[in-house]
Amino acid sequence: MDDFDHRVLGNRLDLFHQQEEGPGMVFWHPRGWELYRVLEDYIRARMRRAGFREIRTPQLLARSLWERSGHWEKFGAHMYSLSESHDADDAAEAHALCLKPMSCPGHVQVFSQRVRSYRELPVRYSEFGACHRNEPSGSLEGLKRTRAFVQDDAHVFCMEAQIEHEVARFCDLLRAVYAELGFPAFSVALATRPEVRAGSDEVWDRAEAALAKAAVAAGLQFEVLEGEGAFYGPKLEFHLTDQRARSWQCGTIQLDFVLPERLDAQFVNERNERERPVMIHHAVLGSVERFIAMLLEHHGGWLPLWLAPEQVVVATLNDASAAYGEKVVQALEDAGIRVAFDERPERLEKKIVDAREKQVPMFVAVGPRDERDQTMSIRERHGQQAVVALAEGVARLRRAGLGPAS
Ligand code: ZN
Repeated sequence: MDDFDHRVLGNRLDLFHQQEEGPGMVFWHPRGWELYRVLEDYIRARMRRAGFREIRTPQLLARSLWERSGHWEKFGAHMYSLSESHDADDAAEAHALCLKPMSCPGHVQVFSQRVRSYRELPVRYSEFGACHRNEPSGSLEGLKRTRAFVQDDAHVFCMEAQIEHEVARFCDLLRAVYAELGFPAFSVALATRPEVRAGSDEVWDRAEAALAKAAVAAGLQFEVLEGEGAFYGPKLEFHLTDQRARSWQCGTIQLDFVLPERLDAQFVNERNERERPVMIHHAVLGSVERFIAMLLEHHGGWLPLWLAPEQVVVATLNDASAAYGEKVVQALEDAGIRVAFDERPERLEKKIVDAREKQVPMFVAVGPRDERDQTMSIRERHGQQAVVALAEGVARLRRAGLGPAS
Protein backbone atom coordinates (compact mmCIF):
# COMPACT_ATOMS: atom_id res chain seq x y z
CA MET A 1 0.00 0.00 0.00
CA ASP A 2 1.46 3.37 -0.95
CA ASP A 3 1.34 6.53 1.18
CA PHE A 4 -1.65 7.85 -0.74
CA ASP A 5 -3.81 4.78 -0.30
CA HIS A 6 -6.94 5.93 1.53
CA ARG A 7 -6.47 3.19 4.15
CA VAL A 8 -3.03 4.54 5.01
CA LEU A 9 -4.38 8.11 5.08
CA GLY A 10 -7.40 7.02 7.11
CA ASN A 11 -5.10 5.59 9.74
CA ARG A 12 -2.59 8.44 9.78
CA LEU A 13 -5.29 11.13 9.85
CA ASP A 14 -7.31 9.18 12.44
CA LEU A 15 -10.44 9.07 10.27
CA PHE A 16 -11.69 5.48 10.47
CA HIS A 17 -10.69 1.89 10.98
CA GLN A 18 -11.90 -1.57 10.09
CA GLN A 19 -11.52 -4.80 12.02
CA GLU A 20 -12.22 -8.47 11.65
CA GLU A 21 -15.43 -8.47 13.69
CA GLY A 22 -17.02 -6.08 11.18
CA PRO A 23 -15.96 -7.45 7.80
CA GLY A 24 -16.58 -4.84 5.14
CA MET A 25 -17.87 -2.39 7.77
CA VAL A 26 -16.43 0.93 8.86
CA PHE A 27 -15.79 2.39 12.31
CA TRP A 28 -15.76 6.16 11.79
CA HIS A 29 -13.62 8.14 14.24
CA PRO A 30 -14.54 11.73 15.21
CA ARG A 31 -12.39 13.36 12.50
CA GLY A 32 -13.62 10.96 9.82
CA TRP A 33 -17.27 11.35 10.80
CA GLU A 34 -16.85 15.13 10.69
CA LEU A 35 -15.67 14.83 7.09
CA TYR A 36 -18.52 12.45 6.32
CA ARG A 37 -21.09 14.89 7.70
CA VAL A 38 -19.63 17.88 5.86
CA LEU A 39 -19.84 15.99 2.57
CA GLU A 40 -23.34 14.73 3.33
CA ASP A 41 -24.59 18.20 4.27
CA TYR A 42 -23.11 19.64 1.10
CA ILE A 43 -24.91 17.07 -1.07
CA ARG A 44 -28.09 17.59 0.97
CA ALA A 45 -28.00 21.32 0.23
CA ARG A 46 -27.34 20.74 -3.47
CA MET A 47 -30.15 18.19 -3.80
CA ARG A 48 -32.60 20.48 -2.03
CA ARG A 49 -31.68 23.31 -4.38
CA ALA A 50 -32.24 20.94 -7.32
CA GLY A 51 -35.80 20.30 -6.18
CA PHE A 52 -35.42 16.96 -4.38
CA ARG A 53 -37.25 16.34 -1.11
CA GLU A 54 -35.35 14.19 1.35
CA ILE A 55 -37.09 11.12 2.75
CA ARG A 56 -36.14 8.18 4.94
CA THR A 57 -37.30 4.62 4.26
CA PRO A 58 -36.93 1.48 6.42
CA GLN A 59 -33.75 -0.49 6.82
CA LEU A 60 -35.64 -3.77 6.96
CA LEU A 61 -38.47 -4.68 4.61
CA ALA A 62 -40.37 -7.90 4.05
CA ARG A 63 -38.80 -10.29 1.62
CA SER A 64 -42.12 -10.43 -0.22
CA LEU A 65 -41.62 -6.80 -1.29
CA TRP A 66 -38.13 -7.62 -2.63
CA GLU A 67 -39.66 -10.55 -4.48
CA ARG A 68 -42.24 -8.30 -6.10
CA SER A 69 -39.64 -5.68 -7.02
CA GLY A 70 -37.46 -8.34 -8.65
CA HIS A 71 -34.48 -7.67 -6.38
CA TRP A 72 -34.74 -11.00 -4.62
CA GLU A 73 -34.35 -12.85 -7.89
CA LYS A 74 -31.59 -10.66 -9.26
CA PHE A 75 -29.82 -9.60 -6.08
CA GLY A 76 -30.89 -12.16 -3.48
CA ALA A 77 -27.48 -13.75 -3.18
CA HIS A 78 -26.14 -10.38 -2.01
CA MET A 79 -28.93 -9.62 0.42
CA TYR A 80 -28.95 -10.21 4.16
CA SER A 81 -32.18 -11.67 5.40
CA LEU A 82 -33.37 -12.05 8.95
CA SER A 83 -36.15 -14.02 10.52
CA GLU A 84 -38.96 -11.95 11.99
CA SER A 85 -40.10 -14.69 14.33
CA HIS A 86 -38.57 -15.41 17.75
CA ASP A 87 -39.18 -19.15 17.35
CA ALA A 88 -37.31 -21.03 14.72
CA ASP A 89 -40.44 -22.56 13.22
CA ASP A 90 -41.28 -23.13 9.60
CA ALA A 91 -43.39 -20.01 9.34
CA ALA A 92 -40.32 -17.86 10.03
CA GLU A 93 -39.05 -18.21 6.48
CA ALA A 94 -42.29 -16.83 5.09
CA HIS A 95 -41.94 -13.71 7.23
CA ALA A 96 -38.31 -13.06 6.47
CA LEU A 97 -37.11 -9.48 6.45
CA CYS A 98 -34.27 -8.21 4.31
CA LEU A 99 -31.78 -5.44 4.93
CA LYS A 100 -32.14 -3.10 1.99
CA PRO A 101 -29.43 -3.25 -0.66
CA MET A 102 -30.86 -0.06 -2.21
CA SER A 103 -33.71 2.35 -1.53
CA CYS A 104 -35.68 2.24 -4.79
CA PRO A 105 -38.64 0.03 -3.70
CA GLY A 106 -39.02 2.15 -0.54
CA HIS A 107 -39.33 5.29 -2.63
CA VAL A 108 -42.08 3.72 -4.73
CA GLN A 109 -44.00 3.06 -1.49
CA VAL A 110 -43.86 6.75 -0.54
CA PHE A 111 -44.93 7.79 -4.04
CA SER A 112 -47.83 5.33 -4.03
CA GLN A 113 -49.26 6.32 -0.68
CA ARG A 114 -51.96 8.34 -2.39
CA VAL A 115 -53.44 8.87 -5.82
CA ARG A 116 -51.13 11.06 -7.88
CA SER A 117 -52.21 13.52 -10.53
CA TYR A 118 -50.11 14.31 -13.61
CA ARG A 119 -50.05 17.88 -12.30
CA GLU A 120 -47.83 16.79 -9.40
CA LEU A 121 -45.17 15.28 -11.62
CA PRO A 122 -42.24 15.24 -11.56
CA VAL A 123 -42.00 14.02 -7.95
CA ARG A 124 -38.39 14.00 -6.73
CA TYR A 125 -37.15 12.16 -3.65
CA SER A 126 -33.66 11.79 -2.24
CA GLU A 127 -32.32 9.69 0.61
CA PHE A 128 -29.02 8.95 2.25
CA GLY A 129 -29.87 5.27 2.19
CA ALA A 130 -27.89 3.00 4.50
CA CYS A 131 -27.49 -0.10 2.34
CA HIS A 132 -26.09 -3.54 3.05
CA ARG A 133 -24.79 -5.93 0.42
CA ASN A 134 -23.13 -9.21 1.14
CA GLU A 135 -20.11 -8.76 -1.11
CA PRO A 136 -17.61 -11.64 -1.36
CA SER A 137 -14.89 -11.17 1.26
CA GLY A 138 -12.17 -11.26 -1.40
CA SER A 139 -13.61 -8.18 -3.11
CA LEU A 140 -13.65 -5.97 0.02
CA GLU A 141 -11.20 -3.08 -0.19
CA GLY A 142 -11.15 -0.40 2.51
CA LEU A 143 -13.83 2.20 1.79
CA LYS A 144 -13.83 1.39 -1.90
CA ARG A 145 -15.88 -1.73 -1.48
CA THR A 146 -17.74 -2.31 1.76
CA ARG A 147 -20.72 -4.38 2.84
CA ALA A 148 -22.40 -1.43 4.55
CA PHE A 149 -22.45 1.93 2.83
CA VAL A 150 -24.61 4.96 2.29
CA GLN A 151 -25.91 5.56 -1.18
CA ASP A 152 -26.96 9.11 -2.02
CA ASP A 153 -29.96 7.71 -3.75
CA ALA A 154 -32.54 9.79 -5.57
CA HIS A 155 -35.55 9.05 -7.73
CA VAL A 156 -37.73 11.06 -10.03
CA PHE A 157 -41.21 9.88 -10.92
CA CYS A 158 -42.30 11.60 -14.11
CA MET A 159 -44.09 11.32 -17.45
CA GLU A 160 -42.23 10.14 -20.51
CA ALA A 161 -42.35 13.64 -21.99
CA GLN A 162 -40.46 14.95 -18.95
CA ILE A 163 -37.51 12.55 -19.13
CA GLU A 164 -35.31 14.73 -21.27
CA HIS A 165 -35.73 17.79 -19.11
CA GLU A 166 -35.18 15.86 -15.87
CA VAL A 167 -32.04 14.16 -17.16
CA ALA A 168 -30.62 17.43 -18.46
CA ARG A 169 -31.24 19.07 -15.07
CA PHE A 170 -29.43 16.26 -13.30
CA CYS A 171 -26.50 16.42 -15.71
CA ASP A 172 -26.14 20.10 -14.86
CA LEU A 173 -26.21 19.28 -11.17
CA LEU A 174 -23.55 16.59 -11.56
CA ARG A 175 -21.28 18.87 -13.52
CA ALA A 176 -21.53 21.64 -10.91
CA VAL A 177 -21.06 19.30 -7.94
CA TYR A 178 -18.05 17.49 -9.40
CA ALA A 179 -16.36 20.80 -10.20
CA GLU A 180 -17.00 22.04 -6.66
CA LEU A 181 -15.56 18.83 -5.23
CA GLY A 182 -12.40 19.29 -7.28
CA PHE A 183 -13.12 17.04 -10.28
CA PRO A 184 -13.61 19.23 -13.34
CA ALA A 185 -12.72 16.30 -15.63
CA PHE A 186 -15.10 13.41 -16.09
CA SER A 187 -16.21 11.14 -18.86
CA VAL A 188 -19.68 9.89 -19.61
CA ALA A 189 -20.86 6.58 -20.99
CA LEU A 190 -24.29 5.66 -22.26
CA ALA A 191 -24.99 2.00 -21.49
CA THR A 192 -27.60 0.55 -23.79
CA ARG A 193 -29.98 -2.45 -23.85
CA PRO A 194 -28.48 -5.72 -22.62
CA GLU A 195 -29.23 -9.10 -24.10
CA VAL A 196 -31.47 -10.12 -21.20
CA ARG A 197 -33.91 -7.31 -20.54
CA ALA A 198 -37.43 -6.33 -19.64
CA GLY A 199 -39.61 -4.11 -21.82
CA SER A 200 -40.33 -3.97 -25.55
CA ASP A 201 -37.92 -2.75 -28.22
CA GLU A 202 -40.09 0.34 -28.81
CA VAL A 203 -39.76 1.31 -25.17
CA TRP A 204 -35.99 0.79 -25.31
CA ASP A 205 -35.76 2.84 -28.52
CA ARG A 206 -37.56 5.73 -26.85
CA ALA A 207 -35.61 5.46 -23.60
CA GLU A 208 -32.18 5.33 -25.22
CA ALA A 209 -33.04 8.19 -27.55
CA ALA A 210 -34.36 10.32 -24.70
CA LEU A 211 -31.26 9.69 -22.60
CA ALA A 212 -28.88 10.45 -25.47
CA LYS A 213 -30.78 13.59 -26.43
CA ALA A 214 -30.80 14.83 -22.84
CA ALA A 215 -27.06 14.26 -22.51
CA VAL A 216 -26.43 16.21 -25.71
CA ALA A 217 -28.76 18.97 -24.52
CA ALA A 218 -26.68 19.15 -21.32
CA GLY A 219 -23.55 19.63 -23.44
CA LEU A 220 -22.04 16.24 -22.60
CA GLN A 221 -19.99 14.07 -24.89
CA PHE A 222 -20.31 10.37 -24.25
CA GLU A 223 -19.22 7.01 -25.52
CA VAL A 224 -21.74 4.25 -26.02
CA LEU A 225 -21.36 0.98 -24.14
CA GLU A 226 -23.48 -1.43 -26.14
CA GLY A 227 -25.34 -3.98 -24.06
CA GLU A 228 -24.14 -2.59 -20.70
CA GLY A 229 -27.44 -1.13 -19.52
CA ALA A 230 -29.46 -2.40 -16.56
CA PHE A 231 -32.10 -5.01 -17.35
CA TYR A 232 -34.80 -2.42 -16.68
CA GLY A 233 -33.42 0.46 -18.72
CA PRO A 234 -30.45 2.35 -20.20
CA LYS A 235 -28.14 4.45 -18.04
CA LEU A 236 -25.62 7.24 -18.14
CA GLU A 237 -22.49 6.58 -16.08
CA PHE A 238 -20.21 9.35 -14.89
CA HIS A 239 -16.55 8.46 -14.47
CA LEU A 240 -14.37 10.92 -12.56
CA THR A 241 -10.66 11.13 -13.23
CA ASP A 242 -8.47 11.70 -10.19
CA GLN A 243 -5.10 13.43 -9.97
CA ARG A 244 -3.38 10.14 -10.60
CA ALA A 245 -5.33 9.63 -13.82
CA ARG A 246 -7.44 6.83 -12.43
CA SER A 247 -11.09 6.58 -13.26
CA TRP A 248 -13.85 6.15 -10.67
CA GLN A 249 -17.45 5.49 -11.57
CA CYS A 250 -19.58 7.71 -9.36
CA GLY A 251 -22.78 9.25 -10.67
CA THR A 252 -25.50 7.41 -12.53
CA ILE A 253 -28.74 8.28 -14.24
CA GLN A 254 -30.92 5.28 -15.04
CA LEU A 255 -34.24 5.17 -16.77
CA ASP A 256 -36.58 2.54 -15.43
CA PHE A 257 -39.88 1.41 -16.92
CA VAL A 258 -39.91 -1.88 -15.04
CA LEU A 259 -40.00 -1.14 -11.31
CA PRO A 260 -43.08 1.15 -11.56
CA GLU A 261 -44.78 -1.73 -13.39
CA ARG A 262 -43.73 -4.40 -10.89
CA LEU A 263 -44.69 -2.31 -7.86
CA ASP A 264 -47.79 -0.87 -9.51
CA ALA A 265 -46.94 2.83 -9.31
CA GLN A 266 -49.45 5.01 -11.15
CA PHE A 267 -50.80 8.49 -11.68
CA VAL A 268 -53.96 9.93 -13.18
CA ASN A 269 -53.30 11.56 -16.56
CA GLU A 270 -55.03 14.50 -18.30
CA ARG A 271 -57.69 12.20 -19.70
CA ASN A 272 -58.44 10.94 -16.19
CA GLU A 273 -56.89 7.54 -16.93
CA ARG A 274 -54.41 5.58 -14.84
CA GLU A 275 -50.91 5.66 -16.27
CA ARG A 276 -47.47 4.41 -15.20
CA PRO A 277 -44.85 6.98 -14.32
CA VAL A 278 -41.28 6.55 -15.50
CA MET A 279 -38.78 6.18 -12.69
CA ILE A 280 -35.35 7.78 -13.02
CA HIS A 281 -32.68 6.56 -10.58
CA HIS A 282 -29.99 9.08 -9.71
CA ALA A 283 -26.84 9.16 -7.64
CA VAL A 284 -24.25 11.91 -7.44
CA LEU A 285 -21.58 10.30 -5.28
CA GLY A 286 -22.72 6.69 -5.56
CA SER A 287 -21.40 5.41 -2.25
CA VAL A 288 -20.44 8.12 0.26
CA GLU A 289 -17.75 5.81 1.69
CA ARG A 290 -16.19 5.15 -1.68
CA PHE A 291 -16.33 8.81 -2.62
CA ILE A 292 -14.40 9.69 0.55
CA ALA A 293 -11.75 7.14 -0.46
CA MET A 294 -11.48 8.90 -3.81
CA LEU A 295 -11.34 12.38 -2.25
CA LEU A 296 -8.55 11.30 0.11
CA GLU A 297 -6.48 9.71 -2.63
CA HIS A 298 -7.16 12.51 -5.12
CA HIS A 299 -6.00 15.19 -2.69
CA GLY A 300 -3.32 13.06 -1.05
CA GLY A 301 -5.01 13.81 2.28
CA TRP A 302 -4.85 17.61 1.80
CA LEU A 303 -8.58 18.13 1.53
CA PRO A 304 -9.84 21.56 0.43
CA LEU A 305 -10.31 23.83 3.44
CA TRP A 306 -14.11 23.62 3.32
CA LEU A 307 -14.03 19.80 3.52
CA ALA A 308 -11.22 19.41 6.06
CA PRO A 309 -12.53 17.77 9.24
CA GLU A 310 -10.45 20.19 11.26
CA GLN A 311 -9.93 23.43 9.43
CA VAL A 312 -7.73 25.16 11.96
CA VAL A 313 -5.42 24.20 14.81
CA VAL A 314 -5.11 26.92 17.41
CA ALA A 315 -1.86 26.46 19.32
CA THR A 316 -0.62 28.27 22.39
CA LEU A 317 2.94 29.55 22.61
CA ASN A 318 3.07 28.71 26.32
CA ASP A 319 0.86 28.11 29.35
CA ALA A 320 0.34 31.79 29.94
CA SER A 321 -1.63 31.97 26.68
CA ALA A 322 -4.16 29.24 27.54
CA ALA A 323 -7.01 31.56 28.51
CA TYR A 324 -6.58 33.78 25.46
CA GLY A 325 -6.24 30.66 23.26
CA GLU A 326 -9.58 29.50 24.64
CA LYS A 327 -11.13 32.81 23.67
CA VAL A 328 -9.77 32.55 20.11
CA VAL A 329 -11.08 28.97 19.77
CA GLN A 330 -14.48 30.09 21.00
CA ALA A 331 -14.62 32.98 18.54
CA LEU A 332 -13.73 30.65 15.65
CA GLU A 333 -16.24 28.01 16.71
CA ASP A 334 -18.96 30.66 17.02
CA ALA A 335 -18.19 31.59 13.42
CA GLY A 336 -18.82 27.95 12.36
CA ILE A 337 -15.16 27.04 11.88
CA ARG A 338 -14.02 23.53 12.84
CA VAL A 339 -11.19 24.01 15.33
CA ALA A 340 -8.80 21.84 17.31
CA PHE A 341 -7.07 23.40 20.33
CA ASP A 342 -3.48 22.44 20.99
CA GLU A 343 -2.59 23.65 24.48
CA ARG A 344 -0.08 20.92 25.25
CA PRO A 345 3.09 22.01 27.01
CA GLU A 346 5.07 21.45 23.80
CA ARG A 347 7.23 23.74 21.72
CA LEU A 348 5.42 25.60 18.95
CA GLU A 349 7.56 23.88 16.30
CA LYS A 350 6.35 20.51 17.52
CA LYS A 351 2.73 21.69 17.35
CA ILE A 352 3.24 22.89 13.78
CA VAL A 353 4.71 19.53 12.77
CA ASP A 354 1.83 17.64 14.39
CA ALA A 355 -0.80 19.80 12.68
CA ARG A 356 0.93 19.16 9.35
CA GLU A 357 1.01 15.46 10.11
CA LYS A 358 -2.80 15.56 10.50
CA GLN A 359 -2.98 17.68 7.32
CA VAL A 360 -4.90 20.51 8.95
CA PRO A 361 -4.83 23.31 6.37
CA MET A 362 -4.65 26.32 8.71
CA PHE A 363 -2.58 26.96 11.83
CA VAL A 364 -3.10 29.77 14.31
CA ALA A 365 -0.54 30.60 17.00
CA VAL A 366 -1.36 32.74 20.01
CA GLY A 367 1.09 34.11 22.58
CA PRO A 368 1.24 36.78 25.26
CA ARG A 369 1.77 39.51 22.69
CA ASP A 370 -1.39 38.42 20.84
CA GLU A 371 -3.30 38.61 24.08
CA ARG A 372 -2.05 42.16 24.73
CA ASP A 373 -2.85 43.28 21.17
CA GLN A 374 -5.94 41.04 20.71
CA THR A 375 -4.43 39.46 17.60
CA MET A 376 -3.64 36.03 16.17
CA SER A 377 -0.93 34.72 13.91
CA ILE A 378 -2.31 32.78 10.93
CA ARG A 379 -0.03 30.39 9.12
CA GLU A 380 -1.28 28.80 5.91
CA ARG A 381 -0.28 25.44 4.55
CA HIS A 382 2.37 26.78 2.19
CA GLY A 383 3.97 28.93 4.85
CA GLN A 384 2.41 32.38 4.32
CA GLN A 385 2.05 34.06 7.70
CA ALA A 386 0.11 37.06 8.90
CA VAL A 387 -0.57 38.66 12.25
CA VAL A 388 -4.10 40.05 12.21
CA ALA A 389 -6.63 41.46 14.66
CA LEU A 390 -8.82 38.79 16.26
CA ALA A 391 -12.06 39.84 14.53
CA GLU A 392 -10.33 40.16 11.18
CA GLY A 393 -8.69 36.74 11.58
CA VAL A 394 -12.03 35.11 12.39
CA ALA A 395 -13.67 36.77 9.38
CA ARG A 396 -10.81 35.76 7.10
CA LEU A 397 -10.86 32.10 8.20
CA ARG A 398 -14.63 32.02 7.97
CA ARG A 399 -14.58 33.28 4.39
CA ALA A 400 -11.83 30.85 3.44
CA GLY A 401 -13.58 27.89 5.02
CA LEU A 402 -17.04 28.38 3.56
CA GLY A 403 -18.21 25.54 1.36
CA PRO A 404 -19.58 26.14 -2.14
CA ALA A 405 -23.14 25.41 -0.97
CA SER A 406 -23.04 28.04 1.80
ZN1 ZN B 1 -32.86 3.47 -7.39
